[in-house]
Amino acid sequence: MKRRSIGLRLAAWYSVVFAGGLAVFSLAVWFAMRAAVYHAVDDELRDRVQGVRAFMDRQISSLSIPEIRDEFREHSVLGPGGDLFQVCDTQGQWLYRSESLESANVSIDKPSDLAKPRFVTAQVAGRPLRFYSERILVNGQPYTVQVAAPMHEAFEAIEAFGLILVLMVPLLLIGATAGGYWISKRALDPVDEISRAAQRISIENLADRLHVPGTGDQLQRLTETLNQMFARLEASVRRIKQFTADASHELRAPIALIRTTAEVAVQKRNRQAIEYLEALDDILEESERTSQIVDSLMLLARADAGKEIIERGVVDASSISHAAVEQGEKLARIRGLQFSSSIPDAPIWVYADAEALRRALLILIDNAAKYTPEGGSVRVNLSANDGFAKLNVSDTGIGIAPADLPHIFDRFWRADKARSRSQGGAGLGLSIAKWIAETHAGSITVQSDIGKGSVFSLQIPLKKQI
Ligand code: ADP
Repeated sequence: MKRRSIGLRLAAWYSVVFAGGLAVFSLAVWFAMRAAVYHAVDDELRDRVQGVRAFMDRQISSLSIPEIRDEFREHSVLGPGGDLFQVCDTQGQWLYRSESLESANVSIDKPSDLAKPRFVTAQVAGRPLRFYSERILVNGQPYTVQVAAPMHEAFEAIEAFGLILVLMVPLLLIGATAGGYWISKRALDPVDEISRAAQRISIENLADRLHVPGTGDQLQRLTETLNQMFARLEASVRRIKQFTADASHELRAPIALIRTTAEVAVQKRNRQAIEYLEALDDILEESERTSQIVDSLMLLARADAGKEIIERGVVDASSISHAAVEQGEKLARIRGLQFSSSIPDAPIWVYADAEALRRALLILIDNAAKYTPEGGSVRVNLSANDGFAKLNVSDTGIGIAPADLPHIFDRFWRADKARSRSQGGAGLGLSIAKWIAETHAGSITVQSDIGKGSVFSLQIPLKKQI
């Protein structure tokens, strides 16, 4: 099911919460208003009873009952609702009874039955009245005084107020929902702006960045995160472009050489068979070099894509080194170098891909042999300490200038382009060796003195460490 837009959902949530709040608020206000009205009426009724009591206190000893009645009758017409009261004594005899209460025959409690003052709201002759009954003592004689107030106006006011609330609540709700929707849309506008700006950035203009609003909020974090992502993308694309350019450059040279050699051989007629053989030899050599470069490129490309499969198992670094050293020794001999090695006979167990480890070691031995002039020496040393298997390949060769050291593990990097190309290097060996070391949670380091030689150290954790 398609989900509603975030703006609509926010507005909907906002209206639900607002409607709930508004309902609670309206009910609370309505009840508060009703309570205030009752409170005011009740206060007035209590005051009236006090007035009656004060009057009786003053007059009961000096006036006869009919005179008191007359006084009450006279006073009763003065205040609003003043005609609504009645007084009776212990026997239930009326001391006074206003006309309207008498005609409706409103009952009253005897003082002995009225333990506490009492408020009652009742309909009398179709009119709502609020009654208040209180037992009073005058000259030691108990009486019940009952006063009443008409409530229809108060009820009308409460009803009108309720009506206003009932009408206002939906209007407020509609206004708040529309406002909420508008606010949520406005709040999300910058996100739209960011996505439009992000859409404008493509592979052609990856160096462009989004404008970061200095708001210190989620929008700022979103644009900063996107900018960081663009920076990473830009760096990756730059690396890919560089890699492609370097790769094409590296492949162009041997392919051009193969082509020229073949062209020259074909152009000149009547050649000796030996000359053709020489040309074919050159072509073969260059083809081998080309396929080595292609192999290395493919390995690095697969490694970058995370597809180069490293099959690790518990393997013996000593026997792997022995095998690599055998090959290295032949290489060194061909190049007129002295070769020595020190590899323990006891196994050194590491958790590694035997083939990859052998390859890394061969790259280091091959480099040592390539960059050591005839008569020099190459030495391979394997040891296990501090939880690592450590393979040192040292030579007495040309060494590496301190300024070049940070670059030697970069792809296609060569200290002396002309020289190493003539020796078959494309500048990929050390980057492969470094990748192998790192995928084995190890490292590769170098120490070198120009003109004196270099020591490359490959370290990978011993099996029990992993
Ligand atoms: P290459 O295929 O050119 O040897 P590498 O990646 O193996 O590529 O090495 C990169 C560069 O590092 C070489 O071109 C060379 O300049 C330098 N280098 C590597 N090993 C040695 C060494 N043992 N002695 C001197 N320079 C070395």
